[in-house]
Amino acid sequence: MAFHVIAVDGPAGSGKSTTARLVAERLGFLYLDTGAMYRCITLKALRLGVAPSDGNALLRLAQESRIEFRVESGVQLTTLDGIDVSSEIRSPEVTLAVSEVSAHASVRAILVERQKEYSRSASLVAEGRDTTSVVFPDAFLKVYLCADVQERAKRRVHDLERLGKRTTLQEQIVDLTRRDRYDSSRSASPLTQTDDSVLIDTTGLTIAEQVDRVVDLYRQRRGA
Ligand code: C5P
Repeated sequence: MAFHVIAVDGPAGSGKSTTARLVAERLGFLYLDTGAMYRCITLKALRLGVAPSDGNALLRLAQESRIEFRVESGVQLTTLDGIDVSSEIRSPEVTLAVSEVSAHASVRAILVERQKEYSRSASLVAEGRDTTSVVFPDAFLKVYLCADVQERAKRRVHDLERLGKRTTLQEQIVDLTRRDRYDSSRSASPLTQTDDSVLIDTTGLTIAEQVDRVVDLYRQRRGA
């Protein structure tokens, strides 16, 4: 049986994670959160005192780390070397350092290979910055989500509040703008919208509408 990949890219706060997770649930696909993998390496580096600029040390960390996804009571958890780190990888410290860590081509090469591995045994919805361009160039369906920065910052404030972390709209605008710039201008796999991606502007859309659009696109393409 052929497995299908739906690849979803876009800037931070565009609704990728929630949309990808719910589309995966609706279609019975695996949800591959590639950002969580870069966050795991960043968390480990911070814990071990490895600088986000030290490409060689980060490469070794990436090679020796075991990153897995597991669903427990309907919630997908991210584990690092067997320990659940789903909450820790969303900390402000990790968020601040992750773009620099993920800009190392050597780190990306290791994680991209692991991401491709998942698609050999299951249909999946993958989301990140380079899933449409580098990881899954032959994906069955490619989607690029965007939204204006005010809207994305508002969503981030709510998301972090739900995790018990207080922040302001202004702080989030600064962080998102910084990460957008970093992710789009780096030399290794910058964030770009590929020609064959369907653009969905999620500003003003509800989560349910975003999910419906992607599921409809998939079903149309499959001819169901
Ligand atoms: O999606 P999320 O905000 O969790 O991603 C965290 C960071 O990881 C991004 O800002 C980006 O720097 C990096 N990333 C990446 N390539 C991916 C996914 C995430 O470079 N495929």
